[in-house]
Amino acid sequence: MAPNDPLAAYLDRFVPGPAGLVYFDGNSLGRPLRATADRLGDFVEQEWAGRLIRGWDEGWYDLPLTVGDELGRVVLGAAPGQVFVGDSTTVLLYKLARAAVDHQRGRDAARDEIVVDTDNFPTDRYLAEGIAAERGLTVRWVETDPERGIDVEGLSSALSERTALVLLSHVAYRSAWLADVPRLTRLAHEAGALVLWDLSHSAGSVPTELDAWEVDLAAGCTYKYLNGGPGSPAFGYVASRHHERLAQPIQGWMGHADPFLMGPGYTPSPGIRRFLSGTPPILGMLAMLDMLALIDEVGMVAVREKSVALTSYAVELVDEVLAPLGVVLASPRDPQRRGGHVTLRHAAMREVVAALWQRDVIPDYRDPGGLRIGLSPLSTSVTEVDRGFEAVREALVSRPGAASPGSGSAGR
Ligand SMILES: *Cc1c(COP(=O)(O)O)cnc(C)c1O
Repeated sequence: MAPNDPLAAYLDRFVPGPAGLVYFDGNSLGRPLRATADRLGDFVEQEWAGRLIRGWDEGWYDLPLTVGDELGRVVLGAAPGQVFVGDSTTVLLYKLARAAVDHQRGRDAARDEIVVDTDNFPTDRYLAEGIAAERGLTVRWVETDPERGIDVEGLSSALSERTALVLLSHVAYRSAWLADVPRLTRLAHEAGALVLWDLSHSAGSVPTELDAWEVDLAAGCTYKYLNGGPGSPAFGYVASRHHERLAQPIQGWMGHADPFLMGPGYTPSPGIRRFLSGTPPILGMLAMLDMLALIDEVGMVAVREKSVALTSYAVELVDEVLAPLGVVLASPRDPQRRGGHVTLRHAAMREVVAALWQRDVIPDYRDPGGLRIGLSPLSTSVTEVDRGFEAVREALVSRPGAASPGSGSAGR
C-alpha cells in the first residue's frame, strides 16, 4: 500500500522539473532547491562583484571548514573541527588513504595491505590499486556478492596483522547494501587497522554517527543526496585524534600553518586545515548550504524514515508488478540493511532504461542488468514512484521481442 508522506510539503522547496518528469537519480545528482537559485544570483552580485578579493578575508577562506562543521553537525555526527570540504571525492579518498597507509607503515613496516571489496565503487578500487603500486603495498580483495555487500564474515576473512587500511563504502552503489559501520570499524581496529569509509551514497539519506562509531577517516560526495550541484566538492572527515599523526600527500599552501607568510618550506596547519591543498571552490559549496539548512529543519531521522518508506514501497511494487515479468530485486529486503536506492535486475534493463529516458523517466543502468532507482527522500513523491513503476512495467512489456502479456510464455 502506498505510504503516507508526512514530508510531502517539502517537495515544493525544489525547482520543479518538466511536467511529468519522474526523477529516480537523486543518488547520482540531486535536484536544485529554489533557495539555491536565489543564493547563486545574490552571491554573484553582492559577494563576488561587491567584495571581490576582500571576500577571502570575509569568510571564503574559512568556508571549507565552516561548511565542514555544518555537515558534521547536521548529517555526519561529527563534532566541529573534523570535517572539511574541497577537491573531488576521488582526490580526497586518495589523500586520506595515502596519509593513513604511510602512517601505519611508519609504525609497523609489516602493515602493507589495503583491504577493499570487489564491489566497491570503481574509483575506490582504482585509487587503492594506484596507492599500492606507488607505495609497494598489496590490495587484499574481499569478494562480495554484488546483490549484497561487505559484512563481518567477509571483512574478517581479509584482516590480519598485515592490514594497514580498510577502504569500504557505507552504502553499496549497486545493491544499496548498508554496511554495519560501527561493527566493521571495531573489527578493523581489533586487527590494528585504520578504516576509511566512503559515504558518497549515504550522506544526506542515511544518518551516521562518525564520532560515536569511532570512525578514523571518511569522505563522500556532496552532489548526490546533499544536492550541491554537478561537480560540487567532496567532504572529508578526520577524527581529531589523528590530525597531528597524519601527513597528506598534496601539501599545498592552503594547508600551511600560515598561507600568506609564503615562506620557504611546508609547515602543516594544526587541526583539520592541514588536509586542504589549494584554493577552495567557493561557488561549488553554496548550493549544499541550502540543502544542509533544509535537512537541519527536517532532521536526519525523519529523512531516513521517509527514505525507508519509499524504498520499502518500491520493494512492494517490485513484488506485485514487476516480479511476474521476471524482474528480480537486487537489493536487500531488510530495510535495516538497505540504503536509499533499490536495484532491479532483468536481462532487458539496458534497453528499458534507454526507453524510459526517452519519456522523461530517469533511473540509471548499472551492469549486470541493473535498473537503479534512487529515491532522494526530500525531493521524491509517492506518486512519482507509482508513475515510475508503471513506466518500467510498460517499457518491459512493450519492448520489441517481449512476450505479449497472457501469451503463455511466462518464465522464459
Ligand atoms: C559517486 C561516487 C564517487 C564519485 O567520486 P568523484 O570523485 O566525485 O567522481 C566515489 N565513490 C562512491 C562510492 C560514489 O558513489
